[in-house]
Amino acid sequence: MKLIAPADDAPATLIPIPALADNYIWMVQKNGHALIVDPGEPAPVEALLSHGLTLEAILITHHHNDHTGGVRALQQRTGARVYGPRAENLPACDVPLSEGDQVDLPGIGLQFHVLDIPGHTAGHIAYVGFIDAERPVIFCGDTLFAAGCGRLFEGTPAQMLESLSKIGNLRPETLVCCAHEYTAANIRWALQVEPDNVALQARARDTARLRAQNQPTLPSRLDLELQTNPFMRTWQPEVRAAADHRAARRLDSPQAVFACLRQWKNDFK
Ligand code: ZN
Ligand code: FE
Repeated sequence: MKLIAPADDAPATLIPIPALADNYIWMVQKNGHALIVDPGEPAPVEALLSHGLTLEAILITHHHNDHTGGVRALQQRTGARVYGPRAENLPACDVPLSEGDQVDLPGIGLQFHVLDIPGHTAGHIAYVGFIDAERPVIFCGDTLFAAGCGRLFEGTPAQMLESLSKIGNLRPETLVCCAHEYTAANIRWALQVEPDNVALQARARDTARLRAQNQPTLPSRLDLELQTNPFMRTWQPEVRAAADHRAARRLDSPQAVFACLRQWKNDFK
């Protein structure tokens, strides 16, 4: 996948807009234009658009209502084009997408590539690109979370592992724009898996400080996920040993380790 940073260096603004209980609607602002990702409700987006921004595009990662509940209202009120996964039923979609497709947004001056990342839902997609010369990003919906991953509602452990490893091969400095503020709870669980992971311990402290100030813990960075997210670390000896211990047997494949971790997280209170 060839990714080119935009030629002009106009700074972009990347904002996680809190919505519903614990969702973020991501907004990128640049050149007086905006895009948003996964609007679960319209109101918090409209509040920001009232400052004279043109909403150019609404990007959808998957069909769940907490990601699409605001799509129709925002489309009708702004005329923005709606992009979304070809393989899913959406309340509205002008441009259906799957892996290999490209999203060109001339107003905001940005371009994204589409990845298929099934597992949480069957047709889940991600948007990968640069928001300015310095900052590669991925909008990954409910697939990769900070120190966690989405539940497997419509996919298998093998599919999700494949989707996460696809994300893991992007540039390490990629900003990971997840759709939920789940970080603190995910880290509590991750510390059960890897209690001696120093990077994870540091992340726990950073996250606690941010949440105490009611600040978002996102975006994350891909290199931090590779260091601290058990679901991205199924090949690490410490993670494999923890999964073996949890399963009380020797797990002989990354898929088996991943499945054990996912069940462990489901059962974690
Ligand atoms: Zn979801
Ligand atoms: Fe969600």
